[in-house]
Amino acid sequence: MIFETKPSALKRYFEILDGKKTARYLICKSIEVSENLNLDDDELWKIHDDKMGEFYTGLDGNVGETQRVSLLDLKIELAKRIMKNCHFCERRCGVNRLDGKKGYCGVTDSRVASEFMHYGEEQELVPSYTVFFSGCTFSCVYCQNWDISQNPDSGVYAKPEILARIIEMRKEKGAKNTNWVGGDPTPNLAYILETLKHCDVNIAQLWNSNMYLTLDALKLLDGIIDIYLTDFKYGNNECAFRLSNVREYWGIITRNHHIARKQGEMIIRHLVLPNHFECCTKPILEWIAKNLDDIRMNVMDQYRPEYKAGNYEDINRRLTREEFIKAYEFSKRLGLKP
Ligand code: SF4
Repeated sequence: MIFETKPSALKRYFEILDGKKTARYLICKSIEVSENLNLDDDELWKIHDDKMGEFYTGLDGNVGETQRVSLLDLKIELAKRIMKNCHFCERRCGVNRLDGKKGYCGVTDSRVASEFMHYGEEQELVPSYTVFFSGCTFSCVYCQNWDISQNPDSGVYAKPEILARIIEMRKEKGAKNTNWVGGDPTPNLAYILETLKHCDVNIAQLWNSNMYLTLDALKLLDGIIDIYLTDFKYGNNECAFRLSNVREYWGIITRNHHIARKQGEMIIRHLVLPNHFECCTKPILEWIAKNLDDIRMNVMDQYRPEYKAGNYEDINRRLTREEFIKAYEFSKRLGLKP
């Protein structure tokens, strides 16, 4: 697929690359929080929401110095509290992960399965400094990264300050962004915020995710993420449950796309599955065209029947050229920009 070199949907991202705008997380660090972070949850959320008003007022103005205690510290505190009764994603396991308990994703401490300069992402993103976490909130039967997504204990724990130094080094070497992925980055939200606390370079932050987050998790990402790089998989709840073991998919994912688009710029990926045009590809593309402005759409053709896909007749083969062209042409007809 041929992409526009500088799609208008990513205007602010290109301005960060040109040094004309500041990555959101650095703006968060410049907003002082003078209140005690030991207050109860409701009080902290109220302060958070007030400070986000300040964040948006200053979004494209001059950015001040990093504060000793900032809006980012407040977000870290709230994220740690969520981990005690984990509801980063809509599985809402309620386990105390700080106590070593495991929920559905199996992630306790964040573990990095691999990190490298990625040259295989959309062309405006590369080279993309990509951090793959172990574990996932989904169990897709065709997962291409199943060896890490379904093995939350694989990989290594890296101290946030060490990973922050690596981000800075990668930026010096030409990385255009930090690309948080997995598995899925959602169980690692607190760790990611903690890492950014130790980081000081003007580099855009990408949330590369299945978007099955809770509203609280999305609020914590507000003011941090510059581009949501979303993976919109299914056009209905039945396919989502059957192929990824996830409930209430459609309502949660559409809600989150609405919110995330208001919080940042957006690239939506849709991996076309064989035999899933009518039930998935079509309703997804129609919904996006109707509900989201100024996003960049990537209809993807690289499906391979990996992992357990052999047990599912409908997806136990590669996509045909005709199937992909049908999906791509449909997207174009709806006016979605690649
Ligand atoms: S992030 Fe993991 S532990 Fe937390 S709610 Fe989701 S699946 Fe459960």
